[in-house]
Amino acid sequence: MNSDYLAQLRKLFEKLPGIGPRQASRFIWALLDFSLEERKNLSELIGALDKNLARCAECFMAGKTSPCSFCAKGGSRDRSKIMVVEKDSDLLNIEKSKIYGGLYHVLGSALDPLEDSAGAARERVRALYKRAESAKPREIILALSPNKLGEFTASYITKILEPLKIKTTRLARGLATGTDLEYADETTLRQALDNRK
Ligand SMILES: [Zn+2]
Repeated sequence: MNSDYLAQLRKLFEKLPGIGPRQASRFIWALLDFSLEERKNLSELIGALDKNLARCAECFMAGKTSPCSFCAKGGSRDRSKIMVVEKDSDLLNIEKSKIYGGLYHVLGSALDPLEDSAGAARERVRALYKRAESAKPREIILALSPNKLGEFTASYITKILEPLKIKTTRLARGLATGTDLEYADETTLRQALDNRK
């Protein structure tokens, strides 16, 4: 085994949300304790990801099909609204609360001012612009985390969308600073949505 092997594996684990170099190493040691069959099973399941899950080409939500059931034509969703969220887990929590019936746009993460313009989330902002330009929704709701990166992301998107002259709103600050949308309860989410501006 060479150090390059470990470095490569660690780097891939570090792409997972919230995983730093130390956790990445712990994953590798834990995998070492998996049985040979479990490891084989894991690698086969990862290999089959594309056959079982897809990112919607419109809204980038993870689901079984692309376009997803929300974006597919003839669906029951309110197509006049697009809600921009950072993560699939934020979207799931909002869906669970049943406070919103429009479409979504999943960025994958908040934008990072230090990241270059080729970042995946920025590409999804460009995709949002194109989508909004052709679909002409009545409103785009920015449902981003109430923290520095969320603030940056919201101002960046607002500026990018400006030429389209579409009403762009933000969730109200019913969400305490630092509260993750992923974990916010229904009442908090409803207040934040009702009082959006
Ligand atoms: Zn979709």
